[in-house]
Amino acid sequence: MTYLTKRELSWFKTLSEKNAISGQENEISSFLKSEFEYRQLPIVTDRLGSIFAVKKSRTPDPIKVMIMGHMDEIGFVVSKIESNGMVRILPIGGINPLTLTSQRMRIKTIQKTYVYGAIDATPPHLLGSGTPAIPRVQDVYLDVGLSSKEAVEQAGVRIGSMVTFDAAFHVLNNGQRIIGKAFDNRYSIVMGLTVLDALKNVDLPFDLYVGASVQEEIGLRGAQTMTHVIQPDFAIVLDCSPARDSSGNKDELGQLGGGVLLRYMDRSMVARPSLLAYQEKMAKKAKVPYQYFDSPGGTDAGAVHKSADGVMTLTHCIVARSIHSPSTILDTQDFLSSKKTLLTLLKDFSAKRFEQLQREDR
Ligand SMILES: [Zn+2]
Repeated sequence: MTYLTKRELSWFKTLSEKNAISGQENEISSFLKSEFEYRQLPIVTDRLGSIFAVKKSRTPDPIKVMIMGHMDEIGFVVSKIESNGMVRILPIGGINPLTLTSQRMRIKTIQKTYVYGAIDATPPHLLGSGTPAIPRVQDVYLDVGLSSKEAVEQAGVRIGSMVTFDAAFHVLNNGQRIIGKAFDNRYSIVMGLTVLDALKNVDLPFDLYVGASVQEEIGLRGAQTMTHVIQPDFAIVLDCSPARDSSGNKDELGQLGGGVLLRYMDRSMVARPSLLAYQEKMAKKAKVPYQYFDSPGGTDAGAVHKSADGVMTLTHCIVARSIHSPSTILDTQDFLSSKKTLLTLLKDFSAKRFEQLQREDR
């Protein structure tokens, strides 16, 4: 079995422990900016905070290929500070309230430091018959250990301050699996950098744009603006989808360790049959597992493929268990299978292939 390199593993830890809810992504965008600058690659951005590096081709008048992940994560913002110092929050992105009670949390202050606390929990013997078993996000109390509104404000907490799970990264099962928060979609940031490094000395017959959008979790907003900036001919969207295999049922779609997803349909896009077949062919060529997948959720592809007069768009996703929670579990073999397939595809791709794929479904 192959494992993640030390570098990939340390990127996973660093990126998972950074905090970047939709609209407050600068911890990730500044990380990407310095990684792109270190590689001396030109940088393109939109005005919302999305950031991409360009690997230019020597081919004259090349087509443009874009690999997009999203850098934002689900989380919360402070909505109110009570007179007794308790903090009230509202969700940013899809939150299951069952994941909240007793969780450790962090609030980013206006001084860009962190205040730590936990969501208040009720012991079972105090649960009355009228107590709702599942609280709503807006009903929970975040206790930061301070006893007045003034003290919380003094600490630098404001209405709108970012709140995230205080979740540490750990390696499981000798490196086969990892646990942490926000692998949806920080894995895509690791993937982007890994791909840029793997192709460092390869002259591709197209300009390759690699980077991350902002505000995916609240409606594919950065994908819309960034696609407008880049105007790609072909787009590949990376995202982390929910695994549905925890029961052990092998018939469920989305098996952890089952390899790259051939995502034929979701809420935001239906796949082009020619592209899906191409992706399958590339996974076979890379000799890695792959699995068909559909989802009631969506990805940035939903916005990308509808940009301008339409963009040929492929999703290239993997699954993880317990996404949108502090304890996401990802299988590193899925990451490596996805990486191999992606590199195989990029080395195969050209203007000629693009035109052939365009013709096939039309
Ligand atoms: Zn995602």
